[in-house]
Amino acid sequence: MNEAQVLAPSTRPASPTGAVRWCVDHVIDGLERSSARRFTVLSPIDERPIAEVAAGQAPDVDAAVDAARRAFPAWAALGPQGRAPLLNAFAQRVRSCLDELAATETLDNGSLLAANRARMVPRAAENIAYFARHALTLHKDVGSTPETIDEVLYDPAGVVGIIVPWNAPIMLSTWRLGPALAGGNTVVLKPAEWAPLTSGLLARLALEAGIPPGVFNVVQGLGETAGAALASHPGLARLAFTGSVETARLVGRAAAANIVPCSFELGGKSPLIVFEDADLDDAVKVAVQQYANAGQVCLAGTRLLVAAPIARRFAQRFQELASSLVVGDPRELGCQVGPLITRQHLERVEGFVERARLAGARCLIGGYRHEAGPLHFAPTLMTDVEQDMEIVQNEVFGPVLTLQTFDSEEHAIELANGTRYGLAASVFSTDPERCGRVSSRLVAGTVWVNCFYVRNLAAPFGGSRHSGVGREGGEFSFDFYCDVKTVQTRRAPG
Ligand code: NAD
Repeated sequence: MNEAQVLAPSTRPASPTGAVRWCVDHVIDGLERSSARRFTVLSPIDERPIAEVAAGQAPDVDAAVDAARRAFPAWAALGPQGRAPLLNAFAQRVRSCLDELAATETLDNGSLLAANRARMVPRAAENIAYFARHALTLHKDVGSTPETIDEVLYDPAGVVGIIVPWNAPIMLSTWRLGPALAGGNTVVLKPAEWAPLTSGLLARLALEAGIPPGVFNVVQGLGETAGAALASHPGLARLAFTGSVETARLVGRAAAANIVPCSFELGGKSPLIVFEDADLDDAVKVAVQQYANAGQVCLAGTRLLVAAPIARRFAQRFQELASSLVVGDPRELGCQVGPLITRQHLERVEGFVERARLAGARCLIGGYRHEAGPLHFAPTLMTDVEQDMEIVQNEVFGPVLTLQTFDSEEHAIELANGTRYGLAASVFSTDPERCGRVSSRLVAGTVWVNCFYVRNLAAPFGGSRHSGVGREGGEFSFDFYCDVKTVQTRRAPG
């Protein structure tokens, strides 16, 4: 998206259920504020325009950071006990607005309505409630010395900037928002321009729950303007960025000028390793699940690494199961694979597949646009790929998997670790010792053994190598969002 697509202001439409009015402007200091410039949001379902959203510029970001800075002392002074009831009320508002949030997210980014209702919106509420609870119990026991009593305090840090992508906005923004607010900070959120609509609703729900104006602000807009202005703002105490490696380089450089600590959750090219002793049905089922959200999932196990002796059987079963996937309208209950986010992204995904074909890869299934809609791409599995091919090395962020075989445990680990990424990995084997050995040698922030996408909010989450910087989850989140302080008090003599 670029400035040429910035349009004139227009009306504010209602959510798909008609029950709430969307918020298509910024939310700054508790008020909805318009911008002269707007950009048009198209639904990936049919490419129809669904909203014209405020295109924030640097002065809007300044106003939001200023509001957050003014709201900070009172919010911080409430302490975890004072903030918890307000955050719980916020989480409850999110739960009670499930229909509107889920339907808006689906229309906005093409994700499955059923998944948004069953998982994403409930998880958004839990992201807020969990960290509010956790903040009540924050402590770190570093052990006192014979001379001093040592305490570790988690002080609120200030204004936190949050920048999120379009593939799961409600879940990803609350994953950062929850601990940032629970830790006593105030927030300026910049959603992605390709899927901005649930963010404004969230800000309004927070206000309805009694969270004071200015504590949670939203600035809408394009990455290169609003995003860049937020990343380079000297008023931030922290910056939490979720997105691509390429943007992270720009964001990191901008934040470094102000010595603002960053947490980066970035792309992935995760391996899914299937050993010859694995429960094959289980492994195939999980492998086919990697097409969830049309493959637009950072954690997706897009590189299937299968032991050579079972590769033919695996591929056959995979093909059978994948051919039964329902590709279609994400609003329909039975749909399993929806559209890609934009035409530009569809062409990008297509380009990866075409270049892989030219380099000698073969599509065992898929490899073409799907007739279900203008932005649908068929679930694709590419074989005959080499480790150094672009399709194996780079994140496609679409419904495109590759299949490689390995001859030994050592070979599997070498292939698995052989990219610049390190977000997640899955291992399928019925041998617990092998699972332990392999897990310990994989370069990944999360390893799932005989399972996939199990998330425990207390566990650290993040990426190694180019998949990210830092870990969040449980206490790890507060290590980032708070100023951790040691207080050492000399013991009274005698
Ligand atoms: P992106 O990097 O293009 O954009 C992410 C956000 O950054 C958007 O809000 C965008 O407006 C903003 N932005 C763009 N340019 C900017 C700039 N110069 N300064 C500041 N902000 C700017 O990523 P995307 O296409 O929206 O999302 C897809 C990527 O996100 C994939 O690589 C995916 O793997 C990754 N992702 C990672 C995780 C994780 O937890 N590790 C989760 C979801 C998505």
